[in-house]
Amino acid sequence: MPLKPLTSLAPLAHRRQCQPCTACCDGWVRINVFDTPVLPGKPCPHSGGAKLGGCKIYAERPIDPCVNFACGWVRETSHLPDWMTPHQAKVIVLPAWTVWRTFEVDLALPVGSRIPFKSLQWLQAYSKKTFRPLIYTEQESDRTGHYTGHQRVNGYGPLTFQEEMIKLIGNKLVS
Ligand code: SF4
Ligand code: SF4
Repeated sequence: MPLKPLTSLAPLAHRRQCQPCTACCDGWVRINVFDTPVLPGKPCPHSGGAKLGGCKIYAERPIDPCVNFACGWVRETSHLPDWMTPHQAKVIVLPAWTVWRTFEVDLALPVGSRIPFKSLQWLQAYSKKTFRPLIYTEQESDRTGHYTGHQRVNGYGPLTFQEEMIKLIGNKLVS
């Protein structure tokens, strides 16, 4: 199962404010901005990061994916606690990213190489409590520490979910 590009999420009301988070502009969610790929190690060229106030072309940013994108933390219906803002908890959650059998599956992407233990522990506990299988990824790096563009994909949930995921994803490395 390839990780599909995240370019067409429906607009959602925001309960929380993004600032100072800029994680989705900084390459931790794979998107294309004006045909330029944005991915780990390759932030959007229009992002100034938190220090420079985020998007440098905010008024002209594209509808898809930028205006339409809302991560799981910022959505009005968010189930994530306040402390799990992506830039602090180092994880971007995309709720109901896909469906396995009849279960909605959440996707968690690291802001950095790995999702920190505290954040992953919370997500796994939530998954167990609510019967929502979880997919979470880790960045692959080369010997020099640069991201290769591949991600290791992990499943958390029923054994059959994990078995079917491995069958679909093959060697668990996707680009
Ligand atoms: S990752 Fe979420 S909170 Fe952070 S800038 Fe993007 S939408 Fe906002
Ligand atoms: S154009 Fe602006 S809002 Fe869109 S990804 Fe780049 S920095 Fe973020």
